[in-house]
Amino acid sequence: MSASDDDFLRTSYDQLRHTIDTISQNDLVLPAAHLYDHATTAIQDLPTATQGIGREATLHHLLRDIVPALNGQNLSGRYYGFVTGSTLPVAEAADNIVTSLDQNVAVHLPGQSVSTAVEDITLQALLRLLRLDATSTAEKILWPGRIVTTGATASNVLGLACGREAIIRWRHPRALGPSELGLLTACREAGVQGIQILTSMGHSSLSKAASVVGLGSGSVQELSLSEAEPWRLDLDAVEREVQKDGVASIIVVSAGEVNTGRFATNGEDDLRRLRELADRYKAWIHIDGAFGLLARILPQNDECYAHQVTAVQGIELADSITGDAHKLFNVPYDAGFFFCRHLAIQTSVFQNPNAAYLTAPTCAIQSPLNIGLENSRRFRALPIYAVLRSEGEEGLRAMLCRMVEMARRVAGFIQAHAHYQLLPSGANSSSSSANKEDMQTELDHTWVVVIFRDSRSEYNTVLTERINKTRRMYVSGTSWAGQKATRIAVSSWRVNVEEDLAVVTEVLESLAQTAPVE
Ligand SMILES: *Cc1c(COP(=O)(O)O)cnc(C)c1O
Repeated sequence: MSASDDDFLRTSYDQLRHTIDTISQNDLVLPAAHLYDHATTAIQDLPTATQGIGREATLHHLLRDIVPALNGQNLSGRYYGFVTGSTLPVAEAADNIVTSLDQNVAVHLPGQSVSTAVEDITLQALLRLLRLDATSTAEKILWPGRIVTTGATASNVLGLACGREAIIRWRHPRALGPSELGLLTACREAGVQGIQILTSMGHSSLSKAASVVGLGSGSVQELSLSEAEPWRLDLDAVEREVQKDGVASIIVVSAGEVNTGRFATNGEDDLRRLRELADRYKAWIHIDGAFGLLARILPQNDECYAHQVTAVQGIELADSITGDAHKLFNVPYDAGFFFCRHLAIQTSVFQNPNAAYLTAPTCAIQSPLNIGLENSRRFRALPIYAVLRSEGEEGLRAMLCRMVEMARRVAGFIQAHAHYQLLPSGANSSSSSANKEDMQTELDHTWVVVIFRDSRSEYNTVLTERINKTRRMYVSGTSWAGQKATRIAVSSWRVNVEEDLAVVTEVLESLAQTAPVE
Protein backbone atom coordinates (compact mmCIF):
# COMPACT_ATOMS: atom_id res chain seq x y z
CA MET A 1 0.00 0.00 0.00
CA SER A 2 1.40 3.42 -0.87
CA ALA A 3 1.70 5.98 1.90
CA SER A 4 -1.25 7.89 0.55
CA ASP A 5 -3.52 4.80 0.57
CA ASP A 6 -2.53 4.21 4.13
CA ASP A 7 -3.13 7.86 5.08
CA PHE A 8 -6.50 7.83 3.41
CA LEU A 9 -7.68 4.86 5.46
CA ARG A 10 -6.25 6.19 8.68
CA THR A 11 -7.83 9.61 8.36
CA SER A 12 -11.11 8.18 7.06
CA TYR A 13 -11.65 6.53 10.40
CA ASP A 14 -10.79 9.69 12.35
CA GLN A 15 -13.24 11.63 10.22
CA LEU A 16 -15.94 9.04 10.76
CA ARG A 17 -15.51 9.21 14.53
CA HIS A 18 -15.65 12.97 14.37
CA THR A 19 -18.91 12.91 12.40
CA ILE A 20 -20.42 10.38 14.80
CA ASP A 21 -19.39 12.53 17.79
CA THR A 22 -21.21 15.48 16.28
CA ILE A 23 -24.42 13.64 15.46
CA SER A 24 -24.61 11.72 18.73
CA GLN A 25 -24.53 14.92 20.77
CA ASN A 26 -28.27 15.24 20.14
CA ASP A 27 -28.88 11.72 21.41
CA LEU A 28 -31.62 11.05 18.86
CA VAL A 29 -32.81 7.65 17.74
CA LEU A 30 -33.97 8.94 14.34
CA PRO A 31 -32.40 11.54 12.04
CA ALA A 32 -33.98 14.98 11.87
CA ALA A 33 -36.37 15.25 8.91
CA HIS A 34 -34.31 17.87 7.05
CA LEU A 35 -31.17 15.71 7.20
CA TYR A 36 -33.09 12.74 5.87
CA ASP A 37 -34.58 14.83 3.05
CA HIS A 38 -31.21 16.30 2.25
CA ALA A 39 -29.68 12.82 1.91
CA THR A 40 -32.44 11.49 -0.34
CA THR A 41 -31.78 14.41 -2.70
CA ALA A 42 -28.00 14.17 -2.48
CA ILE A 43 -27.91 10.57 -3.71
CA GLN A 44 -30.15 11.10 -6.76
CA ASP A 45 -27.52 11.96 -9.36
CA LEU A 46 -25.53 8.73 -9.02
CA PRO A 47 -27.24 6.82 -11.87
CA THR A 48 -26.51 9.65 -14.34
CA ALA A 49 -23.08 10.64 -13.02
CA THR A 50 -20.53 9.70 -15.64
CA GLN A 51 -17.37 10.76 -13.86
CA GLY A 52 -15.94 9.52 -10.60
CA ILE A 53 -15.33 12.24 -8.01
CA GLY A 54 -12.40 10.49 -6.35
CA ARG A 55 -12.09 8.97 -2.93
CA GLU A 56 -11.62 12.13 -0.82
CA ALA A 57 -14.73 13.79 -2.22
CA THR A 58 -16.65 10.53 -1.93
CA LEU A 59 -15.72 10.11 1.70
CA HIS A 60 -16.71 13.71 2.38
CA HIS A 61 -20.08 13.08 0.69
CA LEU A 62 -20.70 9.89 2.71
CA LEU A 63 -19.93 11.57 6.00
CA ARG A 64 -21.69 14.85 5.28
CA ASP A 65 -24.77 13.68 3.41
CA ILE A 66 -25.45 10.04 4.27
CA VAL A 67 -24.23 9.34 7.80
CA PRO A 68 -26.47 12.01 9.43
CA ALA A 69 -29.50 10.44 7.72
CA LEU A 70 -29.01 7.02 9.30
CA ASN A 71 -30.85 5.95 12.44
CA GLY A 72 -29.34 5.77 15.90
CA GLN A 73 -29.67 2.06 16.56
CA ASN A 74 -25.99 1.79 17.37
CA LEU A 75 -25.62 5.24 18.89
CA SER A 76 -28.48 5.28 21.38
CA GLY A 77 -29.54 2.71 23.97
CA ARG A 78 -33.16 3.72 23.38
CA TYR A 79 -33.67 2.28 19.91
CA TYR A 80 -36.28 -0.31 20.91
CA GLY A 81 -37.55 -1.31 17.46
CA PHE A 82 -37.71 -4.92 16.19
CA VAL A 83 -34.92 -6.72 18.09
CA THR A 84 -31.86 -5.07 16.60
CA GLY A 85 -29.10 -5.23 19.19
CA SER A 86 -26.31 -2.74 18.68
CA THR A 87 -22.56 -3.20 18.51
CA LEU A 88 -20.16 -3.50 21.41
CA PRO A 89 -17.06 -1.40 20.68
CA VAL A 90 -14.82 -4.48 20.78
CA ALA A 91 -17.06 -6.15 18.19
CA GLU A 92 -16.82 -3.07 15.98
CA ALA A 93 -13.04 -3.10 16.28
CA ALA A 94 -13.01 -6.78 15.32
CA ASP A 95 -15.30 -6.09 12.40
CA ASN A 96 -12.90 -3.44 11.14
CA ILE A 97 -10.21 -6.12 11.15
CA VAL A 98 -12.53 -8.38 9.16
CA THR A 99 -12.93 -5.66 6.53
CA SER A 100 -9.23 -4.76 6.47
CA LEU A 101 -8.06 -8.32 5.92
CA ASP A 102 -11.05 -9.44 3.82
CA GLN A 103 -10.66 -13.17 4.38
CA ASN A 104 -12.85 -15.48 2.37
CA VAL A 105 -13.83 -18.05 4.98
CA ALA A 106 -15.00 -20.76 2.61
CA VAL A 107 -12.48 -23.60 2.55
CA HIS A 108 -10.60 -24.84 5.60
CA LEU A 109 -6.95 -24.21 4.68
CA PRO A 110 -4.75 -25.33 7.56
CA GLY A 111 -1.44 -23.48 7.74
CA GLN A 112 -2.71 -20.71 5.42
CA SER A 113 -5.33 -18.76 7.31
CA VAL A 114 -6.45 -19.34 10.88
CA SER A 115 -9.93 -17.99 10.08
CA THR A 116 -11.74 -21.36 9.91
CA ALA A 117 -10.13 -22.42 13.18
CA VAL A 118 -11.33 -19.17 14.79
CA GLU A 119 -14.83 -19.78 13.47
CA ASP A 120 -14.91 -23.32 14.76
CA ILE A 121 -13.54 -22.48 18.21
CA THR A 122 -16.07 -19.62 18.43
CA LEU A 123 -18.88 -22.06 17.70
CA GLN A 124 -17.53 -24.50 20.28
CA ALA A 125 -17.37 -21.67 22.83
CA LEU A 126 -21.00 -20.74 22.03
CA LEU A 127 -22.07 -24.36 22.54
CA ARG A 128 -20.33 -24.33 25.90
CA LEU A 129 -21.69 -20.94 26.90
CA LEU A 130 -25.24 -21.96 26.01
CA ARG A 131 -24.76 -25.34 27.71
CA LEU A 132 -25.81 -27.15 24.58
CA ASP A 133 -23.02 -29.69 24.75
CA ALA A 134 -24.55 -31.93 27.43
CA THR A 135 -27.95 -32.93 28.78
CA SER A 136 -28.91 -32.72 32.43
CA THR A 137 -27.75 -36.32 32.77
CA ALA A 138 -24.32 -35.18 31.54
CA GLU A 139 -24.62 -37.25 28.41
CA LYS A 140 -22.36 -35.69 25.79
CA ILE A 141 -24.14 -34.13 22.83
CA LEU A 142 -22.21 -33.40 19.70
CA TRP A 143 -23.09 -30.69 17.22
CA PRO A 144 -20.71 -31.47 14.35
CA GLY A 145 -22.78 -29.43 11.88
CA ARG A 146 -21.99 -25.96 13.19
CA ILE A 147 -21.60 -22.77 11.19
CA VAL A 148 -21.77 -18.99 11.46
CA THR A 149 -24.55 -17.67 9.23
CA THR A 150 -25.82 -14.27 8.10
CA GLY A 151 -28.59 -14.35 10.71
CA ALA A 152 -31.54 -16.25 12.07
CA THR A 153 -33.40 -16.26 8.74
CA ALA A 154 -30.47 -18.02 7.07
CA SER A 155 -30.21 -20.40 10.03
CA ASN A 156 -33.91 -21.21 9.71
CA VAL A 157 -33.40 -21.95 6.01
CA LEU A 158 -30.57 -24.31 6.97
CA GLY A 159 -32.75 -25.92 9.64
CA LEU A 160 -35.67 -26.56 7.31
CA ALA A 161 -33.38 -27.74 4.50
CA CYS A 162 -31.73 -30.27 6.83
CA GLY A 163 -35.06 -31.26 8.35
CA ARG A 164 -36.62 -31.79 4.94
CA GLU A 165 -33.69 -33.97 3.84
CA ALA A 166 -33.80 -36.06 7.02
CA ILE A 167 -37.52 -36.74 7.29
CA ILE A 168 -37.64 -37.94 3.67
CA ARG A 169 -34.45 -40.03 3.82
CA TRP A 170 -35.60 -41.71 7.00
CA ARG A 171 -38.59 -42.99 5.00
CA HIS A 172 -36.89 -43.67 1.67
CA PRO A 173 -36.21 -47.33 0.77
CA ARG A 174 -32.59 -46.51 -0.23
CA ALA A 175 -32.18 -43.67 2.32
CA LEU A 176 -31.98 -41.04 -0.40
CA GLY A 177 -33.35 -37.55 -0.13
CA PRO A 178 -34.17 -34.38 -2.09
CA SER A 179 -30.53 -33.26 -2.13
CA GLU A 180 -29.93 -35.90 -4.77
CA LEU A 181 -33.34 -36.85 -6.16
CA GLY A 182 -35.14 -33.54 -5.95
CA LEU A 183 -38.14 -32.98 -3.70
CA LEU A 184 -40.80 -34.49 -5.96
CA THR A 185 -39.03 -37.74 -6.79
CA ALA A 186 -37.72 -38.21 -3.25
CA CYS A 187 -41.20 -37.75 -1.78
CA ARG A 188 -42.82 -40.06 -4.31
CA GLU A 189 -40.29 -42.84 -3.72
CA ALA A 190 -40.50 -42.40 0.05
CA GLY A 191 -44.29 -42.44 0.05
CA VAL A 192 -44.45 -38.91 1.46
CA GLN A 193 -47.58 -37.10 0.33
CA GLY A 194 -47.12 -33.99 2.40
CA ILE A 195 -44.66 -32.18 4.64
CA GLN A 196 -45.88 -30.04 7.50
CA ILE A 197 -44.10 -27.59 9.78
CA LEU A 198 -45.66 -27.61 13.24
CA THR A 199 -45.12 -24.52 15.37
CA SER A 200 -46.69 -21.84 17.56
CA MET A 201 -46.37 -18.19 16.56
CA GLY A 202 -43.44 -19.04 14.30
CA HIS A 203 -41.40 -16.03 13.21
CA SER A 204 -42.24 -14.67 9.76
CA SER A 205 -38.82 -15.83 8.55
CA LEU A 206 -39.94 -19.41 9.16
CA SER A 207 -42.64 -19.08 6.50
CA LYS A 208 -40.09 -17.46 4.21
CA ALA A 209 -37.66 -20.32 4.85
CA ALA A 210 -40.46 -22.80 4.12
CA SER A 211 -41.05 -21.06 0.82
CA VAL A 212 -37.34 -21.03 -0.08
CA VAL A 213 -36.84 -24.75 0.54
CA GLY A 214 -39.89 -25.69 -1.49
CA LEU A 215 -42.22 -26.66 1.34
CA GLY A 216 -44.33 -23.55 0.96
CA SER A 217 -45.42 -21.07 3.59
CA GLY A 218 -48.76 -22.89 3.59
CA SER A 219 -47.07 -25.91 5.17
CA VAL A 220 -46.56 -23.94 8.41
CA GLN A 221 -49.26 -25.02 10.84
CA GLU A 222 -50.03 -23.01 13.94
CA LEU A 223 -50.60 -25.32 16.90
CA SER A 224 -51.14 -22.79 19.64
CA LEU A 225 -51.98 -24.04 23.10
CA SER A 226 -54.70 -21.47 23.79
CA GLU A 227 -55.99 -18.05 22.91
CA ALA A 228 -54.56 -16.71 26.16
CA GLU A 229 -51.09 -18.14 25.47
CA PRO A 230 -50.83 -18.46 21.68
CA TRP A 231 -47.02 -18.60 21.83
CA ARG A 232 -47.16 -21.96 23.67
CA LEU A 233 -46.96 -25.09 21.52
CA ASP A 234 -49.87 -27.51 21.98
CA LEU A 235 -48.02 -30.78 22.49
CA ASP A 236 -51.16 -32.92 22.28
CA ALA A 237 -51.87 -31.42 18.87
CA VAL A 238 -48.27 -32.12 17.83
CA GLU A 239 -48.74 -35.73 18.92
CA ARG A 240 -51.85 -36.00 16.75
CA GLU A 241 -50.25 -34.36 13.72
CA VAL A 242 -46.97 -36.32 13.60
CA GLN A 243 -48.92 -39.60 13.36
CA LYS A 244 -50.71 -38.65 10.15
CA ASP A 245 -50.27 -41.27 7.44
CA GLY A 246 -48.03 -40.30 4.56
CA VAL A 247 -47.18 -36.92 6.14
CA ALA A 248 -43.70 -36.03 7.39
CA SER A 249 -43.23 -33.31 10.02
CA ILE A 250 -40.72 -30.71 11.12
CA ILE A 251 -41.45 -29.35 14.61
CA VAL A 252 -40.26 -25.78 15.15
CA VAL A 253 -40.06 -24.48 18.71
CA SER A 254 -40.23 -20.68 19.05
CA ALA A 255 -37.73 -20.20 21.85
CA GLY A 256 -38.41 -16.54 22.15
CA GLU A 257 -41.49 -15.41 20.20
CA VAL A 258 -40.68 -12.07 18.66
CA ASN A 259 -43.91 -10.16 19.40
CA THR A 260 -44.22 -11.02 23.08
CA GLY A 261 -40.81 -12.42 24.03
CA ARG A 262 -42.56 -15.50 25.44
CA PHE A 263 -41.50 -19.13 24.95
CA ALA A 264 -43.20 -22.08 23.23
CA THR A 265 -42.18 -24.76 25.71
CA ASN A 266 -41.89 -24.83 29.45
CA GLY A 267 -39.13 -27.09 30.62
CA GLU A 268 -37.24 -30.27 29.89
CA ASP A 269 -40.32 -32.50 30.12
CA ASP A 270 -41.85 -30.73 27.12
CA LEU A 271 -38.71 -31.26 25.05
CA ARG A 272 -38.37 -34.89 26.17
CA ARG A 273 -41.92 -35.51 25.02
CA LEU A 274 -41.23 -33.85 21.65
CA ARG A 275 -38.00 -35.87 21.30
CA GLU A 276 -39.83 -39.12 21.91
CA LEU A 277 -42.50 -38.22 19.38
CA ALA A 278 -39.91 -37.16 16.83
CA ASP A 279 -37.93 -40.37 17.27
CA ARG A 280 -41.03 -42.54 17.05
CA TYR A 281 -42.56 -40.79 14.02
CA LYS A 282 -39.38 -39.74 12.19
CA ALA A 283 -39.88 -36.02 12.67
CA TRP A 284 -37.21 -33.31 13.01
CA ILE A 285 -37.05 -30.78 15.84
CA HIS A 286 -35.73 -27.30 15.07
CA ILE A 287 -35.40 -24.56 17.68
CA ASP A 288 -35.74 -20.93 16.59
CA GLY A 289 -33.84 -19.28 19.42
CA ALA A 290 -32.84 -16.11 17.55
CA PHE A 291 -32.99 -13.92 20.64
CA GLY A 292 -34.31 -16.34 23.27
CA LEU A 293 -31.33 -18.69 23.28
CA LEU A 294 -29.31 -16.35 25.47
CA ALA A 295 -31.74 -17.07 28.32
CA ARG A 296 -29.54 -20.15 28.75
CA ILE A 297 -26.92 -17.97 30.46
CA LEU A 298 -29.26 -16.32 32.99
CA PRO A 299 -28.42 -16.94 36.65
CA GLN A 300 -29.69 -20.47 37.31
CA ASN A 301 -30.77 -20.09 40.92
CA ASP A 302 -32.27 -16.65 40.97
CA GLU A 303 -36.05 -16.76 41.47
CA CYS A 304 -36.62 -13.71 39.31
CA TYR A 305 -35.31 -15.51 36.19
CA ALA A 306 -36.85 -18.90 37.02
CA HIS A 307 -39.49 -18.64 34.30
CA GLN A 308 -37.02 -17.99 31.45
CA VAL A 309 -34.47 -20.49 32.80
CA THR A 310 -37.14 -23.20 32.72
CA ALA A 311 -38.48 -22.09 29.34
CA VAL A 312 -35.19 -22.85 27.57
CA GLN A 313 -34.47 -26.12 29.37
CA GLY A 314 -34.24 -29.22 27.21
CA ILE A 315 -33.63 -27.47 23.89
CA GLU A 316 -30.34 -29.35 23.59
CA LEU A 317 -32.54 -32.34 22.64
CA ALA A 318 -33.36 -30.78 19.25
CA ASP A 319 -31.92 -31.78 15.88
CA SER A 320 -31.02 -28.23 14.91
CA ILE A 321 -30.87 -24.79 16.52
CA THR A 322 -30.97 -21.22 15.22
CA GLY A 323 -29.31 -18.37 17.09
CA ASP A 324 -28.61 -14.74 16.27
CA ALA A 325 -25.39 -12.93 17.11
CA HIS A 326 -26.38 -9.49 15.80
CA LYS A 327 -29.25 -9.26 18.29
CA LEU A 328 -28.53 -9.78 22.00
CA PHE A 329 -24.84 -10.62 21.54
CA ASN A 330 -24.38 -7.11 20.17
CA VAL A 331 -22.10 -7.84 17.22
CA PRO A 332 -22.57 -6.00 13.92
CA TYR A 333 -24.77 -7.23 11.10
CA ASP A 334 -24.96 -9.69 9.73
CA ALA A 335 -24.22 -12.61 12.00
CA GLY A 336 -26.11 -15.62 13.30
CA PHE A 337 -25.28 -19.23 13.94
CA PHE A 338 -26.65 -22.70 13.29
CA PHE A 339 -26.07 -25.99 15.09
CA CYS A 340 -27.02 -29.38 13.69
CA ARG A 341 -26.57 -32.84 15.17
CA HIS A 342 -26.55 -34.63 11.82
CA LEU A 343 -23.46 -33.72 9.85
CA ALA A 344 -24.06 -36.27 7.10
CA ILE A 345 -27.51 -34.83 6.42
CA GLN A 346 -26.19 -31.26 6.41
CA THR A 347 -23.28 -32.15 4.14
CA SER A 348 -25.50 -33.94 1.67
CA VAL A 349 -27.61 -30.77 1.33
CA PHE A 350 -24.82 -28.19 1.11
CA GLN A 351 -21.90 -30.06 -0.47
CA ASN A 352 -20.37 -28.50 -3.58
CA PRO A 353 -20.16 -31.57 -5.78
CA ASN A 354 -17.48 -31.99 -8.45
CA ALA A 355 -15.25 -29.12 -7.38
CA ALA A 356 -11.87 -30.71 -6.78
CA TYR A 357 -10.22 -27.32 -6.28
CA LEU A 358 -12.45 -26.69 -3.29
CA THR A 359 -11.64 -29.93 -1.52
CA ALA A 360 -10.13 -29.50 1.91
CA PRO A 361 -8.00 -32.10 3.67
CA THR A 362 -10.06 -34.47 5.79
CA CYS A 363 -10.09 -32.82 9.15
CA ALA A 364 -12.24 -32.14 12.19
CA ILE A 365 -12.97 -28.63 10.93
CA GLN A 366 -15.51 -28.64 8.12
CA SER A 367 -15.07 -26.39 5.13
CA PRO A 368 -17.90 -23.89 5.65
CA LEU A 369 -18.87 -23.91 1.98
CA ASN A 370 -19.95 -27.55 2.30
CA ILE A 371 -22.21 -27.08 5.31
CA GLY A 372 -23.84 -23.70 4.64
CA LEU A 373 -25.46 -21.55 1.97
CA GLU A 374 -22.68 -19.28 0.75
CA ASN A 375 -19.48 -20.28 -0.94
CA SER A 376 -17.68 -16.97 -0.50
CA ARG A 377 -18.12 -15.87 3.09
CA ARG A 378 -17.21 -12.93 5.30
CA PHE A 379 -15.16 -13.64 8.43
CA ARG A 380 -18.17 -12.81 10.60
CA ALA A 381 -17.05 -15.15 13.35
CA LEU A 382 -14.33 -12.72 14.48
CA PRO A 383 -16.58 -10.12 16.17
CA ILE A 384 -18.37 -12.95 18.03
CA TYR A 385 -15.00 -14.34 19.07
CA ALA A 386 -13.97 -10.88 20.30
CA VAL A 387 -17.16 -10.43 22.35
CA LEU A 388 -16.76 -13.84 23.99
CA ARG A 389 -13.11 -13.07 24.81
CA SER A 390 -13.72 -9.56 26.03
CA GLU A 391 -16.93 -9.96 28.02
CA GLY A 392 -16.74 -13.57 29.09
CA GLU A 393 -19.78 -15.37 30.42
CA GLU A 394 -20.00 -13.03 33.42
CA GLY A 395 -19.94 -9.89 31.32
CA LEU A 396 -22.55 -11.20 28.90
CA ARG A 397 -24.78 -12.26 31.77
CA ALA A 398 -24.53 -8.84 33.41
CA MET A 399 -25.41 -7.14 30.10
CA LEU A 400 -28.38 -9.45 29.60
CA CYS A 401 -29.67 -8.90 33.15
CA ARG A 402 -29.55 -5.14 32.58
CA MET A 403 -31.71 -5.59 29.46
CA VAL A 404 -34.21 -7.74 31.35
CA GLU A 405 -34.33 -5.31 34.25
CA MET A 406 -34.97 -2.41 31.90
CA ALA A 407 -37.82 -4.28 30.18
CA ARG A 408 -39.39 -5.20 33.53
CA ARG A 409 -39.14 -1.69 34.91
CA VAL A 410 -40.92 -0.35 31.80
CA ALA A 411 -43.52 -3.12 32.14
CA GLY A 412 -44.04 -2.16 35.79
CA PHE A 413 -44.53 1.48 34.86
CA ILE A 414 -47.13 0.50 32.26
CA GLN A 415 -48.97 -1.79 34.67
CA ALA A 416 -49.23 0.99 37.22
CA HIS A 417 -50.34 3.64 34.73
CA ALA A 418 -53.99 4.63 34.57
CA HIS A 419 -54.12 4.73 30.76
CA TYR A 420 -51.60 2.13 29.60
CA GLN A 421 -52.28 -1.55 29.49
CA LEU A 422 -49.58 -4.20 29.63
CA LEU A 423 -50.09 -6.99 27.11
CA PRO A 424 -50.43 -9.86 26.38
CA SER A 425 -52.59 -10.33 29.48
CA GLY A 426 -53.97 -6.79 29.65
CA ALA A 427 -53.42 -6.71 33.42
CA ASN A 428 -53.61 -3.18 34.76
CA SER A 429 -53.68 -1.86 38.27
CA SER A 430 -56.88 0.06 37.59
CA SER A 431 -58.82 -2.95 36.32
CA SER A 432 -60.77 -4.56 39.12
CA SER A 433 -59.85 -8.11 38.16
CA ALA A 434 -56.12 -7.54 38.55
CA ASN A 435 -54.54 -8.94 41.62
CA LYS A 436 -51.06 -8.31 42.86
CA GLU A 437 -49.88 -11.85 42.25
CA ASP A 438 -50.96 -11.88 38.58
CA MET A 439 -49.23 -8.58 38.02
CA GLN A 440 -45.99 -9.87 39.53
CA THR A 441 -46.25 -12.97 37.33
CA GLU A 442 -46.55 -10.75 34.26
CA LEU A 443 -43.33 -9.00 35.26
CA ASP A 444 -41.54 -12.27 36.00
CA HIS A 445 -42.54 -13.55 32.56
CA THR A 446 -41.15 -10.45 30.85
CA TRP A 447 -37.99 -11.22 28.90
CA VAL A 448 -36.56 -8.31 26.87
CA VAL A 449 -39.79 -7.40 25.06
CA VAL A 450 -42.66 -5.29 26.39
CA ILE A 451 -45.91 -5.11 24.46
CA PHE A 452 -48.59 -2.64 25.50
CA ARG A 453 -51.33 -0.27 24.38
CA ASP A 454 -53.19 2.81 25.49
CA SER A 455 -56.62 1.66 26.70
CA ARG A 456 -58.21 4.70 24.98
CA SER A 457 -58.48 3.66 21.34
CA GLU A 458 -58.12 7.20 19.88
CA TYR A 459 -54.75 7.42 21.65
CA ASN A 460 -53.76 3.87 20.82
CA THR A 461 -54.06 4.15 17.04
CA VAL A 462 -51.43 6.91 17.00
CA LEU A 463 -49.28 5.84 19.95
CA THR A 464 -46.35 4.24 18.09
CA GLU A 465 -46.14 7.10 15.63
CA ARG A 466 -46.26 9.74 18.37
CA ILE A 467 -43.55 8.05 20.42
CA ASN A 468 -41.25 7.86 17.41
CA LYS A 469 -41.98 11.45 16.49
CA THR A 470 -40.32 12.55 19.72
CA ARG A 471 -37.09 10.98 18.34
CA ARG A 472 -36.07 10.34 21.94
CA MET A 473 -36.94 6.65 21.81
CA TYR A 474 -37.90 4.34 18.97
CA VAL A 475 -40.51 1.58 19.22
CA SER A 476 -42.20 -0.84 16.80
CA GLY A 477 -45.87 -0.91 16.03
CA THR A 478 -47.55 -4.29 16.16
CA SER A 479 -50.97 -5.74 16.82
CA TRP A 480 -52.39 -7.88 19.57
CA ALA A 481 -55.80 -9.58 19.61
CA GLY A 482 -56.80 -7.61 16.52
CA GLN A 483 -55.91 -4.19 17.94
CA LYS A 484 -52.95 -1.92 17.37
CA ALA A 485 -50.25 -2.22 19.99
CA THR A 486 -46.76 -0.94 20.66
CA ARG A 487 -43.66 -2.95 21.32
CA ILE A 488 -40.42 -2.13 23.10
CA ALA A 489 -37.50 -4.52 22.65
CA VAL A 490 -34.47 -3.86 24.80
CA SER A 491 -31.40 -5.24 23.08
CA SER A 492 -28.51 -2.79 23.29
CA TRP A 493 -25.44 -3.10 25.51
CA ARG A 494 -25.87 0.65 26.08
CA VAL A 495 -28.93 0.08 28.25
CA ASN A 496 -28.67 2.28 31.32
CA VAL A 497 -31.67 1.42 33.43
CA GLU A 498 -32.07 4.60 35.48
CA GLU A 499 -31.27 7.11 32.73
CA ASP A 500 -33.26 5.34 30.03
CA LEU A 501 -36.22 4.72 32.29
CA ALA A 502 -36.41 8.43 33.06
CA VAL A 503 -36.68 9.22 29.34
CA VAL A 504 -39.13 6.41 28.55
CA THR A 505 -41.50 7.28 31.39
CA GLU A 506 -41.29 10.99 30.59
CA VAL A 507 -42.20 10.35 26.94
CA LEU A 508 -45.04 7.95 27.78
CA GLU A 509 -46.36 10.15 30.56
CA SER A 510 -46.44 13.28 28.43
CA LEU A 511 -48.15 11.49 25.52
CA ALA A 512 -50.76 10.09 27.89
CA GLN A 513 -51.59 13.67 28.88
CA THR A 514 -51.56 15.20 25.39
CA ALA A 515 -54.68 14.95 23.27
CA PRO A 516 -54.04 12.64 20.29
CA VAL A 517 -55.09 15.13 17.60
CA GLU A 518 -53.20 18.38 17.67
C1 LIG B 1 -35.19 -11.85 14.38
C2 LIG B 1 -35.73 -13.21 14.33
C3 LIG B 1 -35.56 -14.00 13.19
C4 LIG B 1 -34.93 -13.48 11.92
O1 LIG B 1 -33.63 -13.15 12.20
P1 LIG B 1 -32.69 -12.30 11.24
O2 LIG B 1 -31.45 -12.29 12.02
O3 LIG B 1 -33.34 -10.98 11.11
O4 LIG B 1 -32.56 -13.02 9.96
C5 LIG B 1 -36.01 -15.30 13.24
N1 LIG B 1 -36.63 -15.78 14.33
C6 LIG B 1 -36.83 -15.04 15.44
C7 LIG B 1 -37.51 -15.64 16.62
C8 LIG B 1 -36.37 -13.72 15.48
O5 LIG B 1 -36.56 -12.98 16.57
